[in-house]
Amino acid sequence: ILNLQKITKRFGDTKVLKGIDLTIEKGEFITFLGPSGCGKTTTLRIIAGLETPDTGKVILNGEDVTDTEPNKRDVNTVFQSYALFPHMDVASNIGYGLKLKKTSKETIKKKIEEVLELVQLQGFEKRKPSELSGGQKQRVAIARAIINNPKILLLDEPLGALDLQLRRQMQLELKKLQKKLGITFIYITHDQEEAINMSDRIVVMRDGIFEQTGTPDEVYNTPLTSYVARFVGNAN
Ligand code: ATP
Repeated sequence: ILNLQKITKRFGDTKVLKGIDLTIEKGEFITFLGPSGCGKTTTLRIIAGLETPDTGKVILNGEDVTDTEPNKRDVNTVFQSYALFPHMDVASNIGYGLKLKKTSKETIKKKIEEVLELVQLQGFEKRKPSELSGGQKQRVAIARAIINNPKILLLDEPLGALDLQLRRQMQLELKKLQKKLGITFIYITHDQEEAINMSDRIVVMRDGIFEQTGTPDEVYNTPLTSYVARFVGNAN
């Protein structure tokens, strides 16, 4: 479904991505795991179209989208910071994108009900973001991101602001939701345990390169380098 080919990116003198290659399959839950500053967010922003690579290509469904603008890609993003509109209630936040596309009011209402049920927030339509807990805000952000049935969802540390217990609970919920909807999830975390619990495949990143790509079992039990062994082994 998605192909990254020899992507490089520099900011000023810093080479942030040093030629990354990756093929992601439809319906996969794939996680970029690595320490702060290794280039995870930059990779995600290039997939989303918020950043253009210096060299290399992004192929989405067989089509070269390297220079295609973000809203013309079949990709949505969920950020750690939720990015909800504070003055709008939950329903308006979730339905905003559909409203821009001139979808009918009845359809929007029905879709909002559907996605609120999926994220277990039935009845929260009229609440303002300020009246929600962190976990509830993140559920709203996820509902907003899945309402237009994207093929790919990009999630940048979506649980990073939540306390440990809630994070564990949301990990399970997100994983269940992903399998149920069959959406390809491209997920960022620096939390080894989270990556191992949730992913079909993990890409271990180090300083602008993909150090190892494999199933959680492979990177955990058969690390190819001492860096992977140290980094993935740390949590356990
Ligand atoms: P974190 O886990 O802290 O979010 P990350 O792995 O997502 O880290 P990136 O956000 O991709 O890392 O950043 C990689 C490097 O690129 C960092 O050194 C960062 O300072 C630098 N960088 C990112 N965006 C810009 C920018 N717009 N201008 C200049 N430097 C940038």
